[in-house]
Parts: sequence; structure tokens; C-alpha cells
Amino acid sequence: MNYDALLDKAIKELPDVLKEHSRFEKPSVESIIQGKTTFVKNLGEVAKAINRKTDLIAKYLIKELGTAGTHDAQHLTLKGQFREPQIQEKFDAFLEEFVLCSECARPDTKILREERINFLVCEACGARRSIGSIKASVQKDVKKELAIGDEITVEITKIGRKGDGLAKIGNYLVFVTGARIGQKVKARITGIQNTMIFAVTIEVI
Ligand SMILES: [Zn+2]
Repeated sequence: MNYDALLDKAIKELPDVLKEHSRFEKPSVESIIQGKTTFVKNLGEVAKAINRKTDLIAKYLIKELGTAGTHDAQHLTLKGQFREPQIQEKFDAFLEEFVLCSECARPDTKILREERINFLVCEACGARRSIGSIKASVQKDVKKELAIGDEITVEITKIGRKGDGLAKIGNYLVFVTGARIGQKVKARITGIQNTMIFAVTIEVI
């Protein structure tokens, strides 16, 4: 076979996706702040563009922005005020971790679950890598940051029913023994349970 024939043969055997040179355009999140909430107008569209479920993206954004929220097939409503670039930054991080192939950078990937591990498998080049579940990756981050015995500085914004001072760290509710409302205190963590942190006051700042 001569060179041209070989080249022809090689091109014919390439997967279709490599023949198209369509560049992947990163979807842009569109959002507006309305009072004390932020409204993402095009959740459904961006989900479709990257071939992921709205549920997965919504969960990720809510957790990474450290807030609460609700969503339907098209929109996401976040508690609190978030600027569009802030949401875009988190969305881009989602793309990096859960969509784009780290070998060829294309978005033609799917998530496969095998033996309780999630893999991102690239349909363009065949590469695969393991990815965390969203829940696990968020918990891991908090665990990495906070552990029993750590000192934290928090501002007490409420008082709980049993008289503990209450504060927030991200998604976490902190119960601080020996602190009063309005105080900023240094406290030591004595326990972490789901989304609750228990701490005792070391000193009022
Ligand atoms: Zn790839």
C-alpha cells in the first residue's frame, strides 16, 4: 500500500469525534440577584450543553457556594446573593472535575460507576479517571479543614434552645457552649456530626 492509501485508510478508521474539529464552547451561566436570592436562569440549557443532569449540577453549585437552594428542570434558586462570575467559577470547576477529559480536554465523556467508584470515561480518546461523588468530595473538604480539637473563630448570631451560641461555617451549624449572642469567640471543636459542629468557648475576642 502506498502512503496516500495508508493515510486514507487511517482517516477512515478514526473515530468520528476526532474528525470533527468542533471546538467545545464552555457554556455561560446566566444569573440575576433578586432580593435575598439568586436565580440561575439557564440551568437546563447548560446541563444539556454538557450532557449532565440538572440535579447533579444544582447539588454541586449549592454545596460549593455553601448555601441552600432549589431547582427545577430549567432554573436554580440559591439562597443568598451570588454574582454571576462567582457562580461561573464553580460551574467551571464542575466542568473540570465531572465533564472534561483530562487527556484530550474534550467534553464527550460519561460517568460510569464500577464497584462503588465513579469513573469519567472519555468517548473521544478512551481515557478514564476516577472521580469522587459530589457528596464525598464536599465532606472530604470539610474534614480536611476541620477536625475535633481544632480551634475556630466564629461569630454568634443566634442562641439555641439549650442556651448554646449558634454560628455558621459554610453549610455547617456550630453549637458553641459558653458563648452569648453578638460575641466573636475562639472555640475548640469537640464533635462533628453530619452538618453540625460542637465546640466550647476558649475565649471571647
Ligand atoms: Zn479524551
